[in-house]
Amino acid sequence: MTCDHPDLLPLEEALQRLWRALPAPSMPELRAERDDPATDRASMDGIALMASEGCAPRHILGTLFAGSNPVAFTVTPGTAVRIMTGAALPRGADAIVPVEQLEPAGECLVPTITPEPGDHVRRQGDQARAGDLLLPAGGPFNAARIALLAQEGQALPPRSRIRVGVASTGDELVPKPAPHQIRDSNGPMLAALAHAMGAEVDLRPALPDQPTALAAALRQPGDIRILLTSGGVSMGEHDHLPAVLRDLGATILFHRIRLKPGKPMLAALLGDLLVLGLPGNPVSAYLNGLLFLGAALARLEGRGAPDPWRRARLSAPVRHKGDRPLLHPCRLLEGCLEPLPGKGSADLVTLARADAFAWIEAPGEEAGTKVRYLMVV
Ligand code: AMP
Ligand code: MG
Repeated sequence: MTCDHPDLLPLEEALQRLWRALPAPSMPELRAERDDPATDRASMDGIALMASEGCAPRHILGTLFAGSNPVAFTVTPGTAVRIMTGAALPRGADAIVPVEQLEPAGECLVPTITPEPGDHVRRQGDQARAGDLLLPAGGPFNAARIALLAQEGQALPPRSRIRVGVASTGDELVPKPAPHQIRDSNGPMLAALAHAMGAEVDLRPALPDQPTALAAALRQPGDIRILLTSGGVSMGEHDHLPAVLRDLGATILFHRIRLKPGKPMLAALLGDLLVLGLPGNPVSAYLNGLLFLGAALARLEGRGAPDPWRRARLSAPVRHKGDRPLLHPCRLLEGCLEPLPGKGSADLVTLARADAFAWIEAPGEEAGTKVRYLMVV
């Protein structure tokens, strides 16, 4: 194996660079606003009673539901109150006997087990006392943490979807192609991918291979946070995007990564706008879109870094002679990756037939080897 690309950035480093370059909302310090629970609560549907009275029959005074104010009742010897999960305990009661452990006896109910104080009761402050530290500041939001913010009456992070503009580049892209032209397939593909990842998508007309047109589109990107382009980032004479970005004063986060397909991948910041310059070939555009847009959206939304990788065995060897890690199209059959006879980065047909892409680090990975893979979404 020869290493003719020593300057190429490994994929993981490129992802980390992108991650660090983007601002991320993060959790504030979170303290308990009040005792949790704020009163003794029933954790089962049943009756609230005095445990010291054992299995004596209880006359039922009424019913307390979750949210009922318990001051209406006082449990005294020989009495109990029907109570539903989440309801506050009435004065005098110190245990719950669940419905399943009650039998009727005339007008009364009789426990079939001997209750102990505290049975099926969530005691006031069991979970936390007012002022306790629930979570330190920092770290990503997730659904559970948002629930905790809501419980404590704290401001919630904005949940608006991130707006992503999608614009292909290339003079060859036309709606009714002559033999020397093609239709824009990357635009709809990347718009669908961004939509599936939870972004709000603005699919734009393809841009021509002209520096002035590219510069104009970048200078006035409209109301978007991320611009996903495809094409124009390679070594061809019409691959103007890197130079145009530099001329506009953009910070190039990286350009060219150690990945096959997808080497020309570019990421840049132009003010607040993140430009993900995906390669033009459809398989490269797809794979880099999956990896880099997924990471960028997670970061900007204040989520943790996504880990899209799974592991499975290859059912047949993949011949790989190159020096860059290869993402190879596969079918997933009975939990095994079956390599497809792909024709490279322009092979949209195989991309559309694939379930997954297997990561082939070393040349000539053997059948039976467990490898990591990405699901096609
Ligand atoms: P480029 O990176 O611009 O040199 O493009 C690489 C290859 O991908 C060329 O064969 C392009 O015609 C093709 N390509 C670029 N953009 C698209 C697109 N939006 N849809 C389909 N193929 C494209
Ligand atoms: Mg092009």
